[in-house]
Amino acid sequence: MRKKVCMIHTGGTIGMARTEHGYAPKEGFFRSALSRISELDHPEVPEFDLVEYSPLLDSSNISLQEWVKIARDIEDKYDRYDGFVILHGTDTMAYTASALSFMLEELTKPVILTGSQIPLCEVRSDARDNLITALMIAGNYRVPEVCLYFSNRLFRGNRSTKVSADGLIAFDSPNYPSLADVGVRITLNERLIRKAGSGLKLTEFSDHQIAVLKLFPGIQYEVFDKIITSNLKGLVIEAFGTGNIPENHGAFLKILEKARENGTVIVVCSQCLKGSAIIGEYAASRDLAKAGAVSGYDMTVEAAVAKLYYLFSKGYDLETVKKLMETDLRGELTRPQ
Ligand code: ASP
Repeated sequence: MRKKVCMIHTGGTIGMARTEHGYAPKEGFFRSALSRISELDHPEVPEFDLVEYSPLLDSSNISLQEWVKIARDIEDKYDRYDGFVILHGTDTMAYTASALSFMLEELTKPVILTGSQIPLCEVRSDARDNLITALMIAGNYRVPEVCLYFSNRLFRGNRSTKVSADGLIAFDSPNYPSLADVGVRITLNERLIRKAGSGLKLTEFSDHQIAVLKLFPGIQYEVFDKIITSNLKGLVIEAFGTGNIPENHGAFLKILEKARENGTVIVVCSQCLKGSAIIGEYAASRDLAKAGAVSGYDMTVEAAVAKLYYLFSKGYDLETVKKLMETDLRGELTRPQ
């Protein structure tokens, strides 16, 4: 029997139309473009229902509310479909994939985000292939994870990151291999895929103040002093290399200690695409250790931000949040041996 997939269209380039201001989402446009793709009727392609959000968004405008809406829709429709495809703009797709991976606990079915760099309405579009393969994987393969499919690669969602603004190979997963080889055949890399959960449970995100601070040589820390308030619950620091920071005669330590006194969870990620941030590896991470920061290891910044939302939404106390930030929950990090 043909499998059935629920396709949720949130917006993004894939369904955009040409307008006088440049590409923009347009209601109903994607549905009519789909009706012209005859391959979608092929028996190997699952049947699908299309849910079109209103308004359709450029993914730069996706926020916590949309993350929760997508997660709730998946929960509502969960039993009626074999899998889900989320059509999404590429700009923030890795954030949404990370957020969904934490909100959707104990998944037993694929949830696959995809989109395109060129709209479906253009002749040279990458939309058609991304869409058809994402549908086929969501319906016909056992990948009980939130994934991101793009340009012949299937990634774990919370390991993916956008690496090109204009190339068709727009995403990568620098610290975790692809979950499938997609070539002439689609072959899953079974040993890399998470085991199915016990049945979907949803943890909705609630709003919390989180900041990301990217360091650079010559940084004047006073500029950031103002963001360290008692409302700030989580601070992700994008540090150099394996998690090093410029000491600057203790200027940063003062800010970090203020954050610690406020009860802010400080997480250290690396500015490098590949590898881990490990506090204590170099003396140049000493101030982070003094301020009680935790290592984000090889987590992407997207995953670190989403994970903070998740853990705060769970209502955990500070020490538990810190401990779980360093613990692998959804395959989002690997602790170095
Ligand atoms: N600005 C678009 C978006 O993220 C880019 C894209 O979809 O590729 O919605």
